[in-house]
Amino acid sequence: MIDSSVNLLVVSAHAADFVWRAGGTIAKYVKHGANVSLVILSYGARGESNDLWNIEGQTMENVKAVRKSEIEAAAKCLGVENYEIWDFEDYHMEITPERMDRLTRKIREVRPHHILTHGPKDAFNPDHEAVSDYVFKASVLSTSNGVRMEGYPTAKQTRLFGFEPHQSEISHFNPDVILDITETYEQKQAAMNCFKAQKHLIEYYGAKALMRGNQARRCSGSNQYQYAEAFSRFLPYVGGEFV
Ligand SMILES: [Zn+2]
Repeated sequence: MIDSSVNLLVVSAHAADFVWRAGGTIAKYVKHGANVSLVILSYGARGESNDLWNIEGQTMENVKAVRKSEIEAAAKCLGVENYEIWDFEDYHMEITPERMDRLTRKIREVRPHHILTHGPKDAFNPDHEAVSDYVFKASVLSTSNGVRMEGYPTAKQTRLFGFEPHQSEISHFNPDVILDITETYEQKQAAMNCFKAQKHLIEYYGAKALMRGNQARRCSGSNQYQYAEAFSRFLPYVGGEFV
């Protein structure tokens, strides 16, 4: 059940990853009262802003400004108020010991029940794979009593879920979890429309949401699902019974 007792942390490598891959899910958690925290590690200025660089006289400063306004608009569409942009350089994104500490601290601050981030395999996108490893390692460090951080007590191991990568089959992606986003799909569509620097992806991710909706119906035997998003699991489901 999604309610105000649930803390969700989303870690996005670049400006728009959280929207393409989890926008409907994020909007749904916000809508049902969960505490959603979003960390956007970079603007994707070098690796995911190709259309902007086709403009003559373009500058890094301007690309970042455009991406910033797009992030603000998209977060608003999804209802996310609590977000941070850490402005790491992308392509290639480097994870330093200081950055590992920063995310570990963030996890201890948010104390998420679930983390959504990039899955471990993402063909053609080394940043996404680096971030997947980064988030997993920080989640483990956050549980260690020996990793001392004044004011940030040790956390419990959180459940991690991986976004569906852009090239699903080539990345050997198989959905472990398919979440219904029918009730928030319009918000996702509006958020996707904010990213004018990556217009070509809007149709693509609209089609993916429909396809995953079809699979949701087929796998569940229920016709209530129209749009869905798929995720991988970093760790197995643990419980006292099958669900
Ligand atoms: Zn990305």
